[in-house]
Amino acid sequence: MKNHQKEVVYSSIIIPSITLSVILVIVFLSWLFFHNISPYQDKPEHWLPISLPELQNPVVLRVVYVENSRFKSLTEDQLKKILDKTSELVSEFFSVEVVFDYKKKTSIQSLFDNLPLDVKKYQSQKIVSIEDEQSGIETFNKIRNSIAQQIKHENNSEQSIIDYATPYLIDYKKINNIEELTTELTKTIMQRYQYWTEQLANDGKPVLDASPFNQWIYWDSLGYGDLPYEIVITNQLVASIEDNGMPVHTCLRGGITGGNMTFNKHSELGGFVFVSAFQIINDNKLMSYLREDETYTQQQTINYIAATLTHELGHLLFHYAHPFNAQSCIMNPTPLLHYRQWFDQLDVKKCQQLNSPMLKPGAVTLKYNVKW
Ligand SMILES: [Zn+2]
Repeated sequence: MKNHQKEVVYSSIIIPSITLSVILVIVFLSWLFFHNISPYQDKPEHWLPISLPELQNPVVLRVVYVENSRFKSLTEDQLKKILDKTSELVSEFFSVEVVFDYKKKTSIQSLFDNLPLDVKKYQSQKIVSIEDEQSGIETFNKIRNSIAQQIKHENNSEQSIIDYATPYLIDYKKINNIEELTTELTKTIMQRYQYWTEQLANDGKPVLDASPFNQWIYWDSLGYGDLPYEIVITNQLVASIEDNGMPVHTCLRGGITGGNMTFNKHSELGGFVFVSAFQIINDNKLMSYLREDETYTQQQTINYIAATLTHELGHLLFHYAHPFNAQSCIMNPTPLLHYRQWFDQLDVKKCQQLNSPMLKPGAVTLKYNVKW
């Protein structure tokens, strides 16, 4: 080939190919960037505080009941009574008037259809599965580190956490330090969580099936999609293990979350709450132990779901934190699942006298990822 022919080949084939490759790489990197697969999307600076909402009077809250037909459900009558009781409790404890805009019941599948796929994919990496026996020690260490991370984050005194948790561990023994505690908490959550994989639902299949509906991390991410509600009430069990910080009380319950407040981009209040009725309306051996009650009456069921919802609304409306062990306060989290003891001790006047800094508006900083 003559020199000038080589130049023609170079300029007509090689140069366009290089340009095309560069363009393709740029397009691919942009796609990664916008589709949230890149780790750049989860930098600390992407997590910003949710603003404290400015409340109208009354505060209008959109409510939906989300049903999984595999499980025992709540009736329309029960839901109405739960909301009536909630507005009573919110008025009593937070001196604010709320009205509910009750939307049409929906299925758990429809709710989860709104979870953005990219967010789901990213968040799924945080789920710890204990079914995979191949990675036994690795899984154990991952859970233990997750608990240690959360303890460090919460900044409570080590002895108070040890005192709080020790009576409820599966192996009751003297705990001398945080390392021993995290080991025992790991054993406890693994054994109690395992229980659900063996429990059968109404359809004869395990309560924890292959669906994503029990995973807390997905519930916590629903507000990044199209979620036109401030309140979601469900009969779904939310029980799971994550590697990004497991709270001590959740470990003792075997991974159960009774309620949660988190970000919602489609709410003027900046967030939404969900409440699960599963552990209140279903009776079994583990529930009897965690609740210290075998079963609840109709009135107890309504009261405990309403009080849980009120607690979550305290986080949503005022960003209140947890005054741990302040038994008169509704913002004190339910120890284990002792709903009866928790509810019976609530006393708004006694709580106000404590003047807890945890009950000042904005006491807790709640964050969301601006890139999602
Ligand atoms: Zn709470």
